[in-house]
Amino acid sequence: MASKLQEPQFVYMGGKLRPWNEAVLHIGCEAVTRGLNVFEGIKGYWQTDGTFGVLLLRRHYDRLRRSAQILHIPCPWTYEAFENGVFELLGALVEPDKDMWIRTTLYVIDGHWGEGTAADLVLTAFHQDKVLPVAINLGVSSWQRSSDVSLPARVKTSTNYQVARLARIEGRTQDCQDMILLNQWGRVAEATGSCVLVVRDNTVLTPPASEGSLESITVDVVEALAQSLGIKFVRRPVDRTELLIADEIALCGTLSELTPVQSIAGQAMPRKSSLLTSLQQRFFDAVRGIDPHPFVSLSILPAGRHLSP
Ligand code: PMP
Repeated sequence: MASKLQEPQFVYMGGKLRPWNEAVLHIGCEAVTRGLNVFEGIKGYWQTDGTFGVLLLRRHYDRLRRSAQILHIPCPWTYEAFENGVFELLGALVEPDKDMWIRTTLYVIDGHWGEGTAADLVLTAFHQDKVLPVAINLGVSSWQRSSDVSLPARVKTSTNYQVARLARIEGRTQDCQDMILLNQWGRVAEATGSCVLVVRDNTVLTPPASEGSLESITVDVVEALAQSLGIKFVRRPVDRTELLIADEIALCGTLSELTPVQSIAGQAMPRKSSLLTSLQQRFFDAVRGIDPHPFVSLSILPAGRHLSP
């Protein structure tokens, strides 16, 4: 799960690299006053051939634009400008043997209540150890996912993570590293920063986004890998009680990758299925270029950009 982040040497802001301490926002801007921003969390992996690949960058760009569109935040950056900024920052920060987690954020720096809105694209990137995710205890929170008519889960904005923070604080009192948020109908929406995969009857189930989850890019990857492996994968509403009788559960997301769940609501998981373990193996083989998959596209950091400027 999420490790503590470092303070990297550079941040990309205002179209160029700046030292970490100079990457500041004014307290009067909408991003600070109302938490107005949309963002993406993206993963970059060292490949077996010695190159560095950013996973599904185009899809993340497209989702950033969709979040921005819903919140009326203009996004004048083309995909090429976005990719170029990501490569510029990675070129300055990438280190041998460390993967990267990249946060690309549109912070609203100008405008008031939707008038004259203007944003800046800010990119930060953090080193990540190349380790397999450790199994976690998962709880079910008493906090609820907001609905599509309150704060839509489909929008990846920081304000959506207030409830996730409360759920994590609640989880700590129960020795749970992550918590399930239920939706307004009492069914499974997602975890605090990941979607949920549940195995029953040799089928991988996950709630569709209309149940109150983010439109997850990693879930799409896992679905494509499952299809190739002949594993049944179904998107349908998942009841809370189905968690309790599941054969296997995992969290699924850019940062959590495929994290196994060892206990749910204080009850140890049975070792009845290994579908998610097989998918986890296939996932890492694909994202590291060991066994490429057509769905798993990687944007390769151009050669010569691995050195600090
Ligand atoms: N739900 C939430 C609330 C998240 O923060 C994330 C991580 N971005 C996910 C689901 C998984 O989405 P993705 O696979 O695109 O990272």
